[in-house]
Amino acid sequence: MVIDFNEMLDAYKRILKIPSMSAKGTGINEAASFLKALLKNMGIKSEIIQTSGNPVVYGEYFTGAPKTLLVYNHYDVQPIDPENEWTHEPFAASEDHGRIYARGAADNKGTLMARIFGIEKALENNELHVNLKFLYEGEEEIGSPNLKEFIVKNKDRFAADDVIMEGSQVGEENRPVIALGVKGLLYVELKSRTGTTDLHSSLAAIAPSPAWNLINALDSVYDNNKVEIPGFYDNITPLSNNDLNILKDYPFNIERMKSSYGLKNFMFDDKERIIKELFTSPTCNIAGIISGYAGEGAKTVLPAEAKAKVDFRLVPDQDPEIIFDSMKDYLRKMGFDLEMNPLGMEYPVRTAPDTELAQKMISSAIKTYGRKPIIMLNSPGTQPMDLFTRELGIKNAVSAIGVGDNISKAHAPDESVSIENFRLAIEHTKNFLSEFQ
Ligand SMILES: [Zn+2]
Repeated sequence: MVIDFNEMLDAYKRILKIPSMSAKGTGINEAASFLKALLKNMGIKSEIIQTSGNPVVYGEYFTGAPKTLLVYNHYDVQPIDPENEWTHEPFAASEDHGRIYARGAADNKGTLMARIFGIEKALENNELHVNLKFLYEGEEEIGSPNLKEFIVKNKDRFAADDVIMEGSQVGEENRPVIALGVKGLLYVELKSRTGTTDLHSSLAAIAPSPAWNLINALDSVYDNNKVEIPGFYDNITPLSNNDLNILKDYPFNIERMKSSYGLKNFMFDDKERIIKELFTSPTCNIAGIISGYAGEGAKTVLPAEAKAKVDFRLVPDQDPEIIFDSMKDYLRKMGFDLEMNPLGMEYPVRTAPDTELAQKMISSAIKTYGRKPIIMLNSPGTQPMDLFTRELGIKNAVSAIGVGDNISKAHAPDESVSIENFRLAIEHTKNFLSEFQ
């Protein structure tokens, strides 16, 4: 099946018109069927596989090459609220000044479709030198609650050497963004409870305070920009020269970023230091802390409970499970009586810049966009890349080839994609595949 760009755009608009909102349960089967048929029409074996939640669309195309590449995307989208803030119908896929407006235009249907068409072009030109597998999930926007179980159950089916993940975009100066990994995450809830009920604060003379208990515990965990949990820094992989060069090349305008974040200051003045910290330092952040009375005016009360949520972003090869256990032991040994629950654990991933996957992604980006890509050693954020690297044993993972840009407004009203970026992502996919083997 040979189709031209207008037909590709048309197919893109057709999937955008399917309101596949996982949070609402609409359009899910329709979107999955659409994708299954699309792959099938390209000569790619495809099927819809049921999970404990929304179905996965699986596809495979074997060339007999030694290497297998897995392509991961999601067909579900965010809900459209606040609906009255859309100036373009969210599921009409209307064109306006060279952009297509729809929920999911960027996140993630545009990327998904551009990749399919790039693959189709590579097939058409006989330029595919790897086997391909496709995993399209339908629950990414609600946190992929069933993906791990599904992947673990289907390990053989999804076995591959490399994977391209979903999240990427065209960044500043129209340079495509390539993330060679992600930071990991340990999210912990800490609770201190000293009694069954709040008390008159005169009793602070004789009754313990959960708020002080919690604050002191947090102070023992993190002090002067350093995490005090034993062994926390032990498994951090030293940076290679290639890694350092990538950091050096990262574009970062301190003044502009300060104003875009609405910050008075960063913690560091030196640009090189800021970039290094952003991508390669683990963090310990208090995401929320709550206890007692914090409303208008004064109320003298000794609260019965204090609660904090703390997230640690981790870098290769820190292990969230080991760190959580170590944190529990450490605080217990120090005498803190706390309830500690892990609310999330994800492992960090970093693909070496000199791997074939990274190299060919970079060279094809230069060829396609005519400029250097913005390379992140790993995203400063987290996505479940570890499902692929740890559960499936895939060696290399990158986030690359995305269609969104800085004004795409993913998750917000008037989400949109530039048609030119859609076209470029198709070319990027094709150029990557023609080089990758
Ligand atoms: Zn999203």
